Amino acid sequence: MNIIFLGPPGAGKGTQSKRLEAQYGIAQISTGDMLRAEVKADSAIGREAKALMDAGKLVPDAIIVSMLESRIQKPDCAKGFILDGFPRTVAQAEALDGMLKRLGRKIDVVLMLQVDEDALAERIAGRFSCAKCGASYNDVSNPLKVENTCDHCGSHDFVRRADDNRDTVASRLTAYRNETLPLLPYYEDRVTVAYINGMAPIEEVSAQIDAAMSEVEQITQK
Ligand code: ADP
Ligand code: ADP
Ligand code: ZN
Repeated sequence: MNIIFLGPPGAGKGTQSKRLEAQYGIAQISTGDMLRAEVKADSAIGREAKALMDAGKLVPDAIIVSMLESRIQKPDCAKGFILDGFPRTVAQAEALDGMLKRLGRKIDVVLMLQVDEDALAERIAGRFSCAKCGASYNDVSNPLKVENTCDHCGSHDFVRRADDNRDTVASRLTAYRNETLPLLPYYEDRVTVAYINGMAPIEEVSAQIDAAMSEVEQITQK
């Protein structure tokens, strides 16, 4: 099962991807997480990406596409993958199509997670994640069950993203509107696009996604 997760920053893509990863035995590929790892390692890619990420601007397609191309050929993607935060531009989507064609694979579904802009700022302001396993939490809507302890891996180490501040969020939303939203008509013409109401509580969003996924599974088995 190969899934593309579309939706604005803070919509809940990472949260839902982590769950799908476990449920379907497929790999979550977050280009944002990959870039943050490059920045942390102070690699050539990291050095080029950092200023753009801090400004809420997109990293050049060429860097992202080559990073993704090697990632989807790793063994953990054999059963499938969830693309979280990629593609973000029509050029990236076209590059992905070419890549998948060469590899003899295809996208089964695009999940479009819809959330009102007002709610996004609040979600992003309260976001933090586990430094060890990457699980995403929220001060208000998705707190830790036990204080200072990750529900998933028990770690006591948490991080907040440098780009989760008001100015950067505004630029990220602009980039989303101008460069990523045009992907919807692109995919509407090519694959099944399932619209998910991301305003609902996390468990309800999960239930909507599961319903959409079983429909896709029925189609792909036919
Ligand atoms: P969010 O999940 O909040 O939308 P991400 O973690 O996906 O944020 O992305 C963080 C930053 O990393 C983006 O603002 C952008 O600078 C960069 N980035 C991530 N994925 C891509 C991509 N596919 N193309 C270009 N830039 C990207
Ligand atoms: P994205 O990967 O799309 O940028 P995240 O999965 O990191 O988004 O979620 C953004 C923030 O919103 C996190 O703090 C997360 O815990 C919280 N969140 C995720 N889904 C929901 C939801 N359905 N309702 C309320 N808060 C949510
Ligand atoms: Zn953890």
